[in-house]
Amino acid sequence: MTKFTLTNILWTSISLMLLTILALGYQPAWILLVITLISYSLIVFGGVINVNWQFFMPVICRLPNDRNEIFLTFDDGPHQNTTEILNLLEKYSAKGNFFCTGKQLEKFPLLAQKLFQMGHFIGNHSYSHTPYFPLRSVKKIKEELQNTSILIEKYTKSKFRYFRPPYGVINPTIAKGVKAVNMISIGWSIRSFDTQDREGNKALNKIKRKLKSGDIILLHDHSPKILWILEELLRFIKDNNFNTQRIDTYFEQNSTYASKLH
Ligand SMILES: [Zn+2]
Repeated sequence: MTKFTLTNILWTSISLMLLTILALGYQPAWILLVITLISYSLIVFGGVINVNWQFFMPVICRLPNDRNEIFLTFDDGPHQNTTEILNLLEKYSAKGNFFCTGKQLEKFPLLAQKLFQMGHFIGNHSYSHTPYFPLRSVKKIKEELQNTSILIEKYTKSKFRYFRPPYGVINPTIAKGVKAVNMISIGWSIRSFDTQDREGNKALNKIKRKLKSGDIILLHDHSPKILWILEELLRFIKDNNFNTQRIDTYFEQNSTYASKLH
């Protein structure tokens, strides 16, 4: 049972109880009814915008391990910066996880092939990445995921079944779409807000401050200072004996953990 279903059951029960009290003539109960409605709306909204709450469906936000493995993820590519990102990853013998959009894969097919050939992971980040993605129908969401998976398969000759929701937004429609195509949703444990950081310092320091084994770090190919952040981060990772890993490799090596997801 999802947290959303539980919240609905609880909210309906409390509302029915308050309506009964109201019907029995205790007028102040309407204030409690309004408070209940506002609390419900805030909780559901929190579930929509906080991927880590796993409110509507299971989302992997950390990959626990005692091998000091961490997971660098790059969203929204491939992009002009991706070649330089790949060069940096190679320089530090690091692995990356690229959650690509179908639209960008069509724009940069050679980059998609290259990043896969260089030993990195590709995940599905929707086709359009439109801000209206959460408003789309289950059918449209399924189409977006399937079309992007087809492109990933075309360029890598491999099948991946990992999805990262655009903007980290999830609602009941997206949850149904993801379930229908049998994909595993991947969130993050450290959101660097790198796209909003013109200097790069804040994003880098946030990651350095929080980093521990099993963390999934959210970065973007198109961030203004991504190359500087990445190089500093890769040095920090090396100096602190962390290892970068592919998400799918983790699942292959931790079959017990992976089996709980199905
Ligand atoms: Zn994105």
